[in-house]
Amino acid sequence: MRYFIGNWKMFGVPKSINILNKINYFHSKDKNRQKYKVVITPPYTLIETYAKYFKNKKISIGSQNCYQKDQFSSNTAAVSPFMIKSVGAKYTLIGHSDNRSEGDTNEMLKNKVFFALKNNLKVVFCIGENKIQKKNKKTFNVLKKQLINVLDKKFNQNNIIVAYEPIWSIGTGKIPTKNELKETTIYIKQVLKNIFRKKSPAVLYGGSVDGSNVEMFKEIREIDGFLIGGASKTSKKFIDIIKNYYR
Ligand code: PEP
Repeated sequence: MRYFIGNWKMFGVPKSINILNKINYFHSKDKNRQKYKVVITPPYTLIETYAKYFKNKKISIGSQNCYQKDQFSSNTAAVSPFMIKSVGAKYTLIGHSDNRSEGDTNEMLKNKVFFALKNNLKVVFCIGENKIQKKNKKTFNVLKKQLINVLDKKFNQNNIIVAYEPIWSIGTGKIPTKNELKETTIYIKQVLKNIFRKKSPAVLYGGSVDGSNVEMFKEIREIDGFLIGGASKTSKKFIDIIKNYYR
């Protein structure tokens, strides 16, 4: 199974559902539709209406983050995995570099993953090195720490997906070389196998994916799909990625 996950970030109002309608229509007619899953993570404000609308359709809705506590608490503006699940979301991103840079620590991330799984959300756990770490050849080291400090062998690996997103690639148009990305993906899967003592969960790539560079990514069979930022906010760009992936 391949995944095409769109991260809308701070984008979208109720009528932006038209974008999802077009993607859903494409999916319903696509001869390859059994081979992949489409997930969109709109902002919190839209999760309930979108999840209701797409309840019996093939697009799943997720959140972009969640708070590190269960149920209810007295933390202003916090939204727990329990609350996210209760409005129909099936997935949540956790550990996006935007949130890490705003203060998410490994301890917080571990609690987020724990409570998200407890509430039956599928977790898309994001990892990635920054430009300096890459330059200093610390990529593998950084990724390993991000994985082993958060993911626990007791977690249900069937509900975990890992998204490798090099920070220097997010929103920049810069992408890793094919060899680099293949090696890194294999490395991530090896670390995950060691953590879970079984086969690795799916590993996605994210960072400036679009309809033209997806042709290169599809040659790396270790990559199980994509986390797509900018290109997920337009139905045509998102659909082009799927079309060109299966061409
Ligand atoms: C992201 O922010 O998760 C992302 C991958 O963004 P973009 O596709 O715009 O690089």
